[in-house]
Amino acid sequence: MKQYEIRGRQEALLRANSDLEQFAYSASHDLKEPLRNIRIFSELLLREYRHKLDERGANLIDVVGVSALRMDNLLADLLTYLQTNNLPEELPELADANHALQGALSNLHAAICEAHAEITKGEMPCVRIREIHLQLLFQNLVGNAVKYRTEGCPPRVSITASRSGEHWLFLVEDNGIGIAPEYREKVFGIFKRLHSNGQYSGTGIGLAICQRIVERYGGRIWVESAEGHGSKFLFTIPA
Ligand code: ADP
Repeated sequence: MKQYEIRGRQEALLRANSDLEQFAYSASHDLKEPLRNIRIFSELLLREYRHKLDERGANLIDVVGVSALRMDNLLADLLTYLQTNNLPEELPELADANHALQGALSNLHAAICEAHAEITKGEMPCVRIREIHLQLLFQNLVGNAVKYRTEGCPPRVSITASRSGEHWLFLVEDNGIGIAPEYREKVFGIFKRLHSNGQYSGTGIGLAICQRIVERYGGRIWVESAEGHGSKFLFTIPA
């Protein structure tokens, strides 16, 4: 194939990809409003007409509300995923990773308390990344470390950072259920989940968001784990 033909196909592919993302963005955005109505009106129905419903009727409306809430979470995660594609070309200001981690831990406060999780954190560096993106990384990784815990064993999560050549290396380590070797790469795929919603709730988008952010800033993310022996999620950001 000639050079100009290859370039033409690459451009067509990029355009198709960008059109698809734009479509997903608009569809997700437009679905939010009707979904909000489904949630609000099923809540209203339960509140104002409960006395007229038998148990089965109330349960059915409950299912509508819970499903709408799940879809709302899915859309919110999908929108975050799509938004992380539009990162600025120019290098951002230095962000204090201590601050980003603190923000993530505050947002996870309820989940951390509920699980009686023990969190330890090392001193964090300043890195060239938008603080909100670093916070999203910590929030997804620490949130998962708390969520995928071994039954009957309170989660212990440690977050540390060290310099590794031209990069900062961040490590989020847990003592949870772990990941079998054959899934170590697959878990970063969008919508890829290893468990049903009944076992652990989730959307399967968190790690795809993490991978997208890290790669946009020129870093790498991976997991070292063995089933039943906890997980170590590592990512790098250029120093
Ligand atoms: P979600 O948690 O919403 O399902 P993620 O993209 O964050 O989606 O994670 C994808 C899958 O990877 C999870 O469904 C889970 O099976 C697995 N996983 C992620 N983090 C951990 C962890 N710390 N320990 C064990 N499994 C994990």
